[in-house]
Amino acid sequence: MEEIKTGTFVVPGTFLSTVEEFLPGEGVYEEEGKVYSSCAGLVLVDLRTRKISVLPKSYPPVLKKGDIVLGEVEDVMPQRAEVNIESLRRNEERQLPPPKLGVIHVSQVSRRYVRDLERKFRVGDIVRAKVEEVGREMVQLSTTEDDLGVILAKCFRCNTPLRVENLKLGKLRCPVCNRVEFRKVAEDYGKGEPWGR
Ligand SMILES: [Zn+2]
Repeated sequence: MEEIKTGTFVVPGTFLSTVEEFLPGEGVYEEEGKVYSSCAGLVLVDLRTRKISVLPKSYPPVLKKGDIVLGEVEDVMPQRAEVNIESLRRNEERQLPPPKLGVIHVSQVSRRYVRDLERKFRVGDIVRAKVEEVGREMVQLSTTEDDLGVILAKCFRCNTPLRVENLKLGKLRCPVCNRVEFRKVAEDYGKGEPWGR
């Protein structure tokens, strides 16, 4: 039998653990000291609370074109930035199903021509982006609209959150070390509203 861990797909009645190992959470039932799945879905093991749950298959929602997501930039290459999609506006509390890899192609960054993607995104930036296409392995994202783009960027040198100096140019400045960096920022950068207005 496959080892039961977070992300394992199970069907109703699958033995998950004993109650000594994990306490029953949601989507499970207990019988004679053993915990079983009560639905088809993905296993979620919470090591902190020692609870095991099953998220029903229809939950969480699947991404679709037009959804707005938040994610963290994980890699910036000449032609594309890779984003780890963290949450979805329709229900930000819920975890996302795979694929979580979002890709922003250089042509989908800004309405203007982008020559140097490293002046638009950096690893660790938090971005708000729109889903353009959902594939099996990855999600194509865009940040062309004014309300999309980086909503939080930290100074490459000292890790302090950067402040906007010129929104139109995407020019940011570090309030601590004075370093200047550039991004494709959302128009409400730094306002502390993850989903904007
Ligand atoms: Zn700095």
